Amino acid sequence: MKLTVLGCSGSMPGPDSPASAYLVESDGFRLLVDLGNGALGALQRYIAPHEVDAVILSHLHPDHCLDMTSYVVALRYGPAQAAARIPVIGPAGARDRIEAAYDPMARKLRLHELFDFAAPRPGELGPFMVSFAVVNHPVPAYAIRLTAGDHTLVYSGDTGESDALVALASEADVFLCEASFSSEDAYVPNLHLTGQQAGEYAARAGVGRLIVTHVPPWGSRELAVAEAAKAFDGNVEAAQPGAVYHI
Ligand SMILES: [Zn+2]
Ligand SMILES: [Zn+2]
Repeated sequence: MKLTVLGCSGSMPGPDSPASAYLVESDGFRLLVDLGNGALGALQRYIAPHEVDAVILSHLHPDHCLDMTSYVVALRYGPAQAAARIPVIGPAGARDRIEAAYDPMARKLRLHELFDFAAPRPGELGPFMVSFAVVNHPVPAYAIRLTAGDHTLVYSGDTGESDALVALASEADVFLCEASFSSEDAYVPNLHLTGQQAGEYAARAGVGRLIVTHVPPWGSRELAVAEAAKAFDGNVEAAQPGAVYHI
């Protein structure tokens, strides 16, 4: 399994990164996990938009799904069409949200011609076994566990304190966990995690490696890593735009 960080800037694009988006590939299958503001640009450094085999949206905040509007443009007006409708797995209302963001009056958008919308359910998706946990965020939000062969990646999406996330991440090889807050911020419960909480969750779940992500442009990735490392003995680093991990 290969993970490419397309965007890792928390809550909005930053000066060096689009908002959240990750390309996860295995066996030639290309899975896009989240597609936040600006991330469709970064995707095109690696593959053409029509080459995506499936999309999972962790939740419907703009920094995780807004570039689906650009994706519609790429698929509809770009030079190449997808071979089949692209599965888009996400919270209920994903289709309405994308339509409204594209154009609230877009009765002719016909998204069903491009995408096959589905709710998050455990099962097979190409070479992946996929499972989900409902996490703790102001809107319906999912953490995602992807297993290909013997290797597992767990992505937190956006979440506040969540035992369900710890359970989902159990013994994952790589835990890609949000760390939006630092000890320097006023902590807001039920919204996001701190770097230290990400480290604590990694330790509790017994993961192999922790990658902290979703640090906002006004935060510090270095501080997120330092605070996570206080709670987790294993390898900790911060996601960087363009980073590639072989899992
Ligand atoms: Zn977010
Ligand atoms: Zn969010």
